[in-house]
Amino acid sequence: MKITAVESIRVEIPFGVGVPMPAFLGMGQRTVGTLLIRVDTDTGLTGWGDAFGHSIIPSTQAAFDTLVAPTLIGRDATQGAALVDALARQLNIYGRAGSLMFALAGLDLALHDLAGKAAGLPLHRLLGGARRLRLPAYASLTRYGDPDSVGRMCERAVAQGYRWIKLHEVTVDAVRAARAAIGPEVALMIDTNCPWSQFEAVEMARAFAPFAPAWLEEPCWPPENHAALAHVRRVGGLPIAAGENAITAQAFHDLFTAGAIDIAQPSPAKIGITESLRVFALADACNVALAPHTPYFGPGFLAGLHLHAIRAHTFPVEWLWYDLDATLYGDAIVPRDGHVDVPTGPGLGRDPDPAVIARYRA
Ligand SMILES: [Mg+2]
Repeated sequence: MKITAVESIRVEIPFGVGVPMPAFLGMGQRTVGTLLIRVDTDTGLTGWGDAFGHSIIPSTQAAFDTLVAPTLIGRDATQGAALVDALARQLNIYGRAGSLMFALAGLDLALHDLAGKAAGLPLHRLLGGARRLRLPAYASLTRYGDPDSVGRMCERAVAQGYRWIKLHEVTVDAVRAARAAIGPEVALMIDTNCPWSQFEAVEMARAFAPFAPAWLEEPCWPPENHAALAHVRRVGGLPIAAGENAITAQAFHDLFTAGAIDIAQPSPAKIGITESLRVFALADACNVALAPHTPYFGPGFLAGLHLHAIRAHTFPVEWLWYDLDATLYGDAIVPRDGHVDVPTGPGLGRDPDPAVIARYRA
């Protein structure tokens, strides 16, 4: 199965979040982006990947188009891990985290999609079989900033059937409003995106504790300060989640051996399937739980579903709780009653809708 053509395709789909759009993480604000990686082969099969993503798509697309794509024509698509690992070594001068690695992750996803299609099997069966085909999902809310909006949006998410909600808030007032809105039974997570020093993070963890968060995510800057995270975990009184900024199995190993986290969040569109499986093995050996990071609407989300499915236990699937004008897979990936089904078609299980690509291509 030789690669005959590759292409990166940027899709930008308009969305809303239920209130006037707050500023958060420098994201595109009016649209949410997916960088599709398309790999065609001489068998007639096409694989689809997804390279992270969101506001950094221009950088990832440049890395894919200029560094990765030119090496791929004529290569054997069945040599997935070998091909991606060889490119990672050859291109390591571009860094072991960031756009080049995300471009390789997109390739890794596309090659796994092809491997499943060639075998006539869904990815979860290629990876040893599914333990579950219907997965609980959590509503991952944007950062609203004001407690009234947080409370209202939490109520709306619970009314849609979610039993797990994640905030991207950084104030006690916002977390208090969320807990008041959802009551004691719905699980609440707090993702802070690396704002604080070790000292500040301990203070905030203690302040959040009365609202019983299921985890506190990425409380410390910089994300590679594992000692700070380990200290917050030891004395802050909350389970700690992180991993979306760890881009190699080695980086996860360092998090685990530092005792920094309770819950690991490998991100398929940042590290690929191959590396995610290495992280899973390390996490098992180090008694760390798993919650793959899936704030995507393309093949990266599908890949995340398969990675969840092959495990007897993971935390619920992250679903960015946006009102989207369209998705690449119609309603198939949109959670209903707080659950999402794992696709069972060959490979990742679904191909992106060409009409949606054509309409929203950027
Ligand atoms: Mg996060």
